[in-house]
Amino acid sequence: MTRRDMAMAKAVALMALGLVSIAQTIYIYKSVVDYRPPFPEMPVSKTLRDGPRLARNVLVVVVDGLRIDASNQMDTLNLMRDYGTDYISMAGLPSLSLPGDAVLFTGSWQEFSGVTTNWYEGPGPDSIFDEAERSNLTTSTVGYGSVDMMFGRSIDIKTGYAQDRDLLGQCLELIANGSYNLMAVHFSNLDREGHLHGGRSEQYLKAVADIDGYIAEILNHLNLNESVLIITSDHGHRDEVGHGGREREVLETPLVIAGRGIRRGLAPLTNQISHPRYPSSLGFRFLPSARVIRWSRP
Ligand SMILES: [Zn+2]
Repeated sequence: MTRRDMAMAKAVALMALGLVSIAQTIYIYKSVVDYRPPFPEMPVSKTLRDGPRLARNVLVVVVDGLRIDASNQMDTLNLMRDYGTDYISMAGLPSLSLPGDAVLFTGSWQEFSGVTTNWYEGPGPDSIFDEAERSNLTTSTVGYGSVDMMFGRSIDIKTGYAQDRDLLGQCLELIANGSYNLMAVHFSNLDREGHLHGGRSEQYLKAVADIDGYIAEILNHLNLNESVLIITSDHGHRDEVGHGGREREVLETPLVIAGRGIRRGLAPLTNQISHPRYPSSLGFRFLPSARVIRWSRP
């Protein structure tokens, strides 16, 4: 073998090594992003009629990245707490937006829903939107791209992304038209401030105050004698910046529910599995896949 051949062989070997490590990286990346729960098939919720509909409609406002301590400084939200039910909710792990949204609307933790990263693609598991559709109710989202991506098959009206203020306008319009039974609104600006400046920053608290103003406007237009309003978030934020882990200020989120048929009171701690209690306002009980699995397994 000449020197030249040796160099050539070395280069080919290095290239092969490079290709192998690229393939390995892709494989590892995909094994994280394409995580699928260890069940052959996610079951569909068992529809349980829960008596007559208590409320004409349910409006869920998800304030991306809202911490409990910050939410306690919101005057309007505190007013809702006085008249409704005040929970501490759990985001689950990883405490990221897409997995958190899936937890909120499927009632299943990340390892059951299979939505374990923000890069999840494609339809999500059975959700309360699907159950609402099965119950012939009208569903809508305002500014909720991730939910549209996961559960769009069962969402009748989708407005797509816009600035929070514009989303508020679209939400008020839908309320005025009365053309929904279940609506989910997503405000995202607070999360942006949390990522830029942290969960205790002036900018973050300013955004919190803006949201409180939006909730006041929603309440001005919503008839709580026939509607239910739910304010919650997908995760909190660290003092520094960001979220994803198990810090208390990230995992614990507010869950305030007020309106038709909602009892006053304080529930010190719950988790998202309890979230599906809200569809009972709409006359059905949603059984999260996680529970169905537990029940159907020996
Ligand atoms: Zn975020």
